[in-house]
Amino acid sequence: MSVFSEMDGGCEEVVFVHDPPTGLRAIVAIHSTALGPSLGGTRFFPFRTEDDAIADVVRLARAMTFKAAAAGLDQGGGKAVIIGDPRTDKTEELLRAYGRFVETLGGRYVTAEDIGTSQADMDVIRTETRFVTGVSPSLGGSGDPSVMTAYGVFLAIRASLEEAMGEASLAGRRVAVQGVGKVGSHLVKHLIDAGAKVVVSDVDEAAAGRLSAALGVDAIDPDKIHAEECDVFSPCAMGGVIGDRTIPDLRCRVVCGAANNQLERPEHAQALAAQGILYAPDYVVNAGGVINISEEARGYEADRAKASVERIEGTLGRVFAAARDRGVTPLEAADGIARARIAGLPRLRGYWAPGDATFVRSEPR
Ligand code: NAD
Repeated sequence: MSVFSEMDGGCEEVVFVHDPPTGLRAIVAIHSTALGPSLGGTRFFPFRTEDDAIADVVRLARAMTFKAAAAGLDQGGGKAVIIGDPRTDKTEELLRAYGRFVETLGGRYVTAEDIGTSQADMDVIRTETRFVTGVSPSLGGSGDPSVMTAYGVFLAIRASLEEAMGEASLAGRRVAVQGVGKVGSHLVKHLIDAGAKVVVSDVDEAAAGRLSAALGVDAIDPDKIHAEECDVFSPCAMGGVIGDRTIPDLRCRVVCGAANNQLERPEHAQALAAQGILYAPDYVVNAGGVINISEEARGYEADRAKASVERIEGTLGRVFAAARDRGVTPLEAADGIARARIAGLPRLRGYWAPGDATFVRSEPR
């Protein structure tokens, strides 16, 4: 594999980190700092090959650029991977070695939790670097991001119903939620409170059973949830669930959920549209978590963070309107809005403003 060809399409920087005594092997991809410091989680995962790790980290960093830009944040997109099994390879020394390297990047990359890393890990990393978010509230952190992610998804479902059915209300609407982990379970509570009829599924039968017992929702076979007749299908488990195999089975009006990279391929956005299904672009829908952690830069305040997450409903409404105006899919419209911010705003830095550089008066000669 050529790392440079992986970076084609605009990834600014890829940094390889190696600390043999701790076994740390990490890769940081800084996809874009056009709008601000790159922000994205650290995935601790036993990648099969180094090529897989490189391809993944660049792809994930690119998605963060678009997510932050579409969410209206002054943040860029980045991501990191630590190659290894978090259950056996994670030690305090390794995490601190990693934190030390993040610090050397001087703030061009700000990390957070992701698959295989936790809030407790971020607290350890915080001992070595300022450039980490998602630490414990006692350290000034914003806590578990999935609460705000779920709230954002709920608001996105409202915006999608408004677009597809002319009415944002959830009352009496039927929603099928695939995956009731951290985000899905919070989402189900919002939906029920809003009067929706909810059906759930999870490959972890115990998790689905617990939620079903606690909230009185139906739990069904994970292989069948995407084919459930409903107003909204909400993928909140894995990526790649919308593709050639599943699209013909869908019996919903809207696809709107938390999972990253829901479409197997971008052209599946057109396939959904052709079937009369409104697809709410995943990275617009699930931005609540990143909006929440980005608030840590200003000193985290829960009320302000919640208000920022609430902008998702309007943002998605504008995406749908742009899609209608331009005759494109909502995914193409969202990409266009993100690209316009990334291309347009950095231009303003060409105008000098106080704080850009020190004014030094020289003595007249
Ligand atoms: P999680 O691991 O807590 O929950 C995922 C759940 O999905 C688990 O309960 C798992 O058993 C279940 N699952 C896995 N495969 C399934 C399948 N085929 N059918 C049904 N259930 C299945 O993860 P999470 O934090 O709730 O995140 C859910 C999704 O949202 C992920 O794709 C994640 O990348 C994305 N996301 C999460 C956040 C966040 O703040 N946590 C933010 C943005 C995006």
